[in-house]
Amino acid sequence: MSHREPLTPSSLPGPVWVVSPHPDDEALGCGGLIAALSGAGQEVWVLLLSDGGLSHPNSQTYPRERLAGARLAEWRAGLAELGVPGARTRALGLPDGELHACAGAIAGGALAAFREAPPGTLLLPWARDPHPDHRAAWAPLLSAARAFPAVRRLAYTVWLEERGESADHPRPGETRPLTLDVRPWLAPKRRAILAHRTQLGLIADDPHGFTLPATLVERALSGTETYHEVLTQEVPA
Ligand SMILES: [Zn+2]
Repeated sequence: MSHREPLTPSSLPGPVWVVSPHPDDEALGCGGLIAALSGAGQEVWVLLLSDGGLSHPNSQTYPRERLAGARLAEWRAGLAELGVPGARTRALGLPDGELHACAGAIAGGALAAFREAPPGTLLLPWARDPHPDHRAAWAPLLSAARAFPAVRRLAYTVWLEERGESADHPRPGETRPLTLDVRPWLAPKRRAILAHRTQLGLIADDPHGFTLPATLVERALSGTETYHEVLTQEVPA
């Protein structure tokens, strides 16, 4: 493993914006850092891109609209556990699974949100995190961030460790890896993840429905979060 410098949350300029393609990505990928920042009085805002409405397409009890509503409520409840009030959340409601077709809406929606509280730091899903919606978010989010030339851009990962191939990992020169010991904030991080009940077995009537893998949840609660500070605009998704 390459050398990784420790991340000091208080060194990140605020406001800190976190962008989440789906409700739960922010809890899994950076719940500890969000709790640390909130606890230190830093202003954290969170932008949700998709409606999360694709996880249980065959459920009768949770048709898409109900599911999307439930996921939005879970997302806000989870963020409250991390110290982020609803007033500092924004949701674009774009179609889950189709972010590849939403580049303009992501860039425009993110820019409008960021202008409400111009970001000093942006946490966004890594360019090659192995989920199509996460990859689709990269270019439009970097595009929106260009309006704030001094912003620090830290990529977080959700699926990279479980599902990534070697080419998906950051290459030399693309990023500077940083780690954060999140053991002091594991309790709120756990509560934030567990708030996503629809992703943890609540919906029983769709045999093909999505459930967060136990390995992913365990790693998210292992006590370390890794970030990749973006060093260049030239990172292919
Ligand atoms: Zn996701």
